[in-house]
Amino acid sequence: MNIHEYQGKQLLNQYGVAVPRGFVAFTPDEAAEAAKKLGSKILVVKAQIHAGGRGKAGGVKIAQSPEQVRAIADELLGRVLVTHQTGPEGKEIGRLWIEEGSEIDKEYYLGMVLDRNTSKVSVIASSEGGMEIEEVAAKSPEKIFHVTVDPLTGLTAFQARQIAFAIHIPHLLINKAVKFMLGLYQVFVEKDCSIAEINPLVVTKGGDVLALDAKLNFDDNALYRHKDVTALRDLAEEDEKEIEASKYGLNYIALDGNIGCMVNGAGLAMATMDIIKSYHGDPANFLDVGGGASKEKVEAAFRLILSDANVKGILVNIFGGIMKCDVIAEGIVAATKSVSLHVPLVVRLEGTNVARGREILRQSGLAITPANSMADAAEKIVTLVKQAAGGVA
Ligand code: GDP
Ligand code: MN
Repeated sequence: MNIHEYQGKQLLNQYGVAVPRGFVAFTPDEAAEAAKKLGSKILVVKAQIHAGGRGKAGGVKIAQSPEQVRAIADELLGRVLVTHQTGPEGKEIGRLWIEEGSEIDKEYYLGMVLDRNTSKVSVIASSEGGMEIEEVAAKSPEKIFHVTVDPLTGLTAFQARQIAFAIHIPHLLINKAVKFMLGLYQVFVEKDCSIAEINPLVVTKGGDVLALDAKLNFDDNALYRHKDVTALRDLAEEDEKEIEASKYGLNYIALDGNIGCMVNGAGLAMATMDIIKSYHGDPANFLDVGGGASKEKVEAAFRLILSDANVKGILVNIFGGIMKCDVIAEGIVAATKSVSLHVPLVVRLEGTNVARGREILRQSGLAITPANSMADAAEKIVTLVKQAAGGVA
């Protein structure tokens, strides 16, 4: 789960990580009020959306008075901001963070991430802040510094100092940088983050070490023990279909293609998307209905897939392990009838009671195309979708 920059900053602040003072605003009036309360000469108005790249896209603006802040807020609120991370459809700006301006001396990068190879937290730091870390990694990898944290000791002050020296934090500010890193690590571990990224971390002319941006991402599987973090969820930032899916315990991720996929098991779902691609098709979604999918779940899954207007065909790929193929087939038939399917449907079933399952599909009288293997299924759905498109044109 992602949260907004300002929520991240408020959380960091509780852990002694220095951030600029600021207030959230949902209206131009609130924005002007926030600017008055801050009372600083330079003010920064920042669009709060769950995506980076706001600076370059015009979502971060400098102002010099509450009136100016109000005018900028009026212009930004309700506008759709397109950054290189939002996709072409962009994200609507619903709230702003009004912050006191910082006199930046230099920008740095600091990130923490759970490294799956070592099963440990990795701290990544660079003197090249303010730009994409991927770009730094590609162009000047020698400017990126890594430290792996032993979970028993946690990030040590020694390691934090090593990082601070490596990225050339001014000597007089090393202790502030160490406090900053230790605080960030504590948030990361206590709140079960999967990513904590401060880009840029800045050193100001006045000698402060501040988080100018904050991106925190939390492990969904640990949210049950963080009610405070769960409360920060902003549903307006999430895909409606994904919210609907989570109600039924379906793992659904919306994609850009036109072939809807219904699969059991995450690995099989990934493999299904791959094989659709290798037959030159494009999956419209990732969908894992889980091991014990009921008739209701299968129905909900069909409705979800069809609610995507781009879907021009559906591929069902189910392996009957714990579930039996005849039960799945009954679920598919019932769901197909209840949601009035209007696009081609290819079904590949394998596993326990597969013969009976196929028989049920055959006798249903519905326009279901059976497939014998994954490759066969992928080829059939890609062909059917292409034929349907050709018929319309
Ligand atoms: P992002 O583009 O979405 O990652 O948004 P950031 O919060 O990182 O802001 C982008 C850039 O705006 C930063 O790299 C800074 O250069 C600039 N910026 C943000 N806040 C301030 C500020 O208080 N003062 C100044 N001078 N620049 C700022
Ligand atoms: Mn940033």
